[in-house]
This record gives sequence, structure tokens and C-alpha cells, in this order.
Amino acid sequence: MSCTSSSMDIVPDDTFNDFAPLSKRRRVSDCSRSCEDSSCAPLKKFWFPDGDIVLEIQTRLLKVHRRRLQCSVIFSDMLHIPQPFETDQIDGCPSVALVGDALADWEVALAWIYHHDEFLNQVVTFDILSGALRISTKYEIPGLRRWAIEELSSRWPVDVVSMRLNALPHAAEAITLAQECNVPEILPAAFYALSVQKFHASADGGRSHLVLSPNDLRRLIAGREALQDALLRIAVDPLTEPGCANNAACAHCAPRRAEYWRARLAPDPKSPWSTWLVRELDWMLRDDAFAGTLCPACFHGHMSTIKWRLGRLRGAMPGFFLL
Ligand SMILES: [Zn+2]
Repeated sequence: MSCTSSSMDIVPDDTFNDFAPLSKRRRVSDCSRSCEDSSCAPLKKFWFPDGDIVLEIQTRLLKVHRRRLQCSVIFSDMLHIPQPFETDQIDGCPSVALVGDALADWEVALAWIYHHDEFLNQVVTFDILSGALRISTKYEIPGLRRWAIEELSSRWPVDVVSMRLNALPHAAEAITLAQECNVPEILPAAFYALSVQKFHASADGGRSHLVLSPNDLRRLIAGREALQDALLRIAVDPLTEPGCANNAACAHCAPRRAEYWRARLAPDPKSPWSTWLVRELDWMLRDDAFAGTLCPACFHGHMSTIKWRLGRLRGAMPGFFLL
């Protein structure tokens, strides 16, 4: 297919159902000339005079280079399929309408394609992440998808112990994105991040019902119940954990240890999140100031109990949320 031969009106198979011919083809001689129909104006940022393919996304036209789009398996395949002659073109180039895509998502993908170093050095917002993941998944751009998954995993790590404050914003959106784009490994942490937020506070959790499907809301509620149960079991009997190999506690240290557990896990009314059990356990593991006050037998019993509870919680997390 040469640059001057045709528009990409062919739908080779189901893969390309989202590609569609432009409904209203208009010629634009250059970026500065606006269409008669203002709804299809060129987007200056991605209108390269020497480009050889025009993308129509939402209401904008982008003139880019086919060789740059080869990083997409879908585009690569499509561009290798001979196109029939057709006179309709835009600015002398074949055009393709990307139906159903958001312009903002494509701006992210094209920024990765054209301005790679700047892209990697920018502050990554959730919108950038989600745009990158949606386009890289739909059009099979392995490098961009890998980058997006690494960024997502740094916020919602496979091991919930590594989860930090940056997991709290957009947790509900991350859940729907992970399901849409097949990144199930971030789901336990994203659900956990939502479950530690107080819904009556103005944090993200309070908007979950607007973002999550009824099924995911059910998962969230089930997970919160399971975590609440785990917390209550500890509060009722802080020192004894059935199954833990070392439940040693002497009469001297036991009252202080019990008090310590209850104080650490008590909810803070001023905090925007409820007891973040995994994080508390992780901090307790490193609380040498307290552990150092225990007798040797209780020290080992104390550490064993924390490790055992943390390990069990880590393993149980997906099940808590019915994943
Ligand atoms: Zn002791």
C-alpha cells in the first residue's frame, strides 16, 4: 500500500472490528488548515508534515509515520495487508478511524513512541498509566504494556506488604483497569488498598460504588469482613495463634505484650484509613524498641507470632476478596 493509494477501509478479521473508515473524509492540506467540519481538526502536537498515515481519533486527526506504528503488532499486521485503491485520502495519505479509542489514551501512546526519554522521565499519573495500558493492550505494543504493568505493580504490588500510600488513590479505577486489560496480579493489593480506606472520608474509597461493578463491590465487602474478623481474633487473644509454632509467653511479659498488640491495632479515629493490618505487622516486626524489652523466650514467641500472622495474611489476601 503506498501512501497515495488508498484509505484503510478493509476489515481483515475480527481483530480489526474497531477500525473503521472515516465517515466524513475531508482533505486537509496542512496542519494549519482547519476542516470545514470543525469536529475533525488536526491535532498539531501529532501532525507531522512528512507523516504517511492519518489517524482519526474521536474528533481529531493525527498525521504520523507508519514505521513508528510498527511497534504495534496489530498495526504492523494491518500495514502489511495490501489495501485496494480508493481515492479518498486525507492530506494525501491513507487514513484510519480508531473507533472507540480515547484521544487522551493515544496521546500517551504516541508520546511513548515519539518522545521516549521525556516519557520515561515524567511524573506518572494514573491517567498516563491507564492510557498506556489500554492502547498497548488493544494494539499489542509489548514494550509499552510492560512499562505500564511495571508502574501499576509498583503501586499495587503482588506482595501486599510492599504496598505504600500511593496505592490508596485510584484503587477502584485500578481494579476495573486490571480487569479490562488483563492484569490480574495487581487485584489483591488494589482491593486491599480500597478496603483499608474509610468510606465516610472523602478519599477514593467513598466513590467505589461509582467505579466498581456490583460483583467487585461484593468482593470488596467480603474482603473487609474477612480482614475485620482477622483483626478481631487478634484483639480477643493477642498472644495465642493456633497453628503458630511458638506461642511462648511468660507471666511477666504477657500483659505488656497483649497491651502492645491491642494498642498497635486499635483504629485511629483521625486517620483516613482503618487499621492497615499488613503494614502494622510489618512495622511491628521492626519495632526493636519494644521487642528488646522482652525476655528471650517471649522475644522469640513475639516475633514468631508476628511473622506467622503476616505470612498467613499475605497468603489469604486473594481469597479474602474472592479472587
Ligand atoms: Zn517473657
